Amino acid sequence: MSGAAGLRVVVIGGVAAGMSAASQAKRRMPEAEVIVLERGPFISYGACGMPYNLADPTRDMEDLVVLSPEHARTKRGIDVRLRHEVRSIDVAEKTVRVRDLDAGREETLAWDRLVIATGARPVVPPIPGRDLPGVFLLRELTHGVAIDRFVAERSPKKAVLVGGGYIGLEMAEGLRERGLEVHVVEMRDRVAAGFAAEPAAIAEKALARHGVTLSLGTRVESIEPSNGGLRVRTDHGAFDADLVLLSLGIRPNRELAEAAGIALGETGAIAVDDAQRTNVEHVFAAGDCAEARHRVTGKPAYVPLGPTANKQGKIAGANAVGADERFAGIVGTAAFKVFDVELARTGLTLEEAERAGFSAFESGSEHGTRGHGYPGGGRLHTTLVVEHRTGRLLGAQLAGDEGAAARVNVYAAALAAGATVHDIEGYDLAYAPPFAPVYDPILIAATVARKALDGRG
Ligand code: FAD
Repeated sequence: MSGAAGLRVVVIGGVAAGMSAASQAKRRMPEAEVIVLERGPFISYGACGMPYNLADPTRDMEDLVVLSPEHARTKRGIDVRLRHEVRSIDVAEKTVRVRDLDAGREETLAWDRLVIATGARPVVPPIPGRDLPGVFLLRELTHGVAIDRFVAERSPKKAVLVGGGYIGLEMAEGLRERGLEVHVVEMRDRVAAGFAAEPAAIAEKALARHGVTLSLGTRVESIEPSNGGLRVRTDHGAFDADLVLLSLGIRPNRELAEAAGIALGETGAIAVDDAQRTNVEHVFAAGDCAEARHRVTGKPAYVPLGPTANKQGKIAGANAVGADERFAGIVGTAAFKVFDVELARTGLTLEEAERAGFSAFESGSEHGTRGHGYPGGGRLHTTLVVEHRTGRLLGAQLAGDEGAAARVNVYAAALAAGATVHDIEGYDLAYAPPFAPVYDPILIAATVARKALDGRG
């Protein structure tokens, strides 16, 4: 036991999962000593807001900080140590080796309970030129601040975004709003990974309507300095840019845990049970560094998202000081917008369902979003992934002019309940012309899928 105050909880990482864990541990056991070690200069920020803050020069990136270190210290009694990087964990001795990056000093710090909330980092392909000035990643708040400053100070004219996932597409909008010409390069044959062909095509049309050009099936080979800017060489030609963003997905920061003998799961992230315990007693993990149980497959999955990080962190912090909380699992619900269209998904894609051993089919439908004759609104496309034998819903993807993000939550709840498309057809959903037609697109999509199931599609 370390420290006069009693139990010492050390948390590695100070963003969504880490600060949720620290706050919860301190709230449940005020006499505990709670120390957060964060290698960066910020804690507790909403990374998800960075593309939107970038779009609007009147908004400051640092406004995304939810809780300042001073507030965490004085109001919550959490000992936050910024620019402190954990170099190793000793689970036998119950210590961490930590380096104060500013002072250049290292020390050994003892813990009674450890929460690993080290998050994830961007995948950086080994392409020549990836470290050139003007080439950016977007993960940490420092990255957002750097891009914002570069746009304000250097007035770049052209951006090439490598990767057409949700962050790439949100940034296409953000940079376009700041007046840049934007070109997206994507290796696969469509944008919006995790979405079926139709929703992806809706996103691609939105990009085109807003002047964003797109190269699909194109692989970046190198980035070179050129005429004071950059030249991005691909297997299908070269593109000039003043600013390049690499957003090619993320990897869990698992190395510290792995080196300490903490077990990784089959996804490659840290394995945890539903109490956020790792295989080592008194060591917990939460957030983007950890797995979560997928409620549709019943198996561990790696779907790194904000709400999961917050919830898992809260449970890890509570359980670190003796509570017995359980994480209910995930269904992989996510939403984003590209200019004037919304995309949202939950559950499994057809590919994921087949990989998980389901015999499934995809059912598509499209419907208006408001009551007959009511002005405004638009179209919403829904793709349902349904199990052949049972009619059980396995996944849903929505894309269109409005209401995708709100409606996906109904499907998320349906997945958690193990509902069939027949069950969903019977849902009593709200109707008023400004919000929905009398048969909501959710009900229509379920009917279309049920008819296909009955062989009447
Ligand atoms: P992180 O945020 O990665 O934090 C981990 C922290 O640990 C980092 O600050 C890191 O410096 C620190 N750390 C790592 N190793 C060490 C070490 N050895 N010593 C000390 N400190 C260490 N999610 C959604 O659900 N919806 C969205 O719309 C959405 N949009 C996003 C947009 C962008 C641009 C980005 C980047 C992410 C978005 N996300 C979104 C994902 C969401 O931000 C993450 O799921 C969430 O931040 C994960 O929190 P975390 O605490 O697990 O990890």
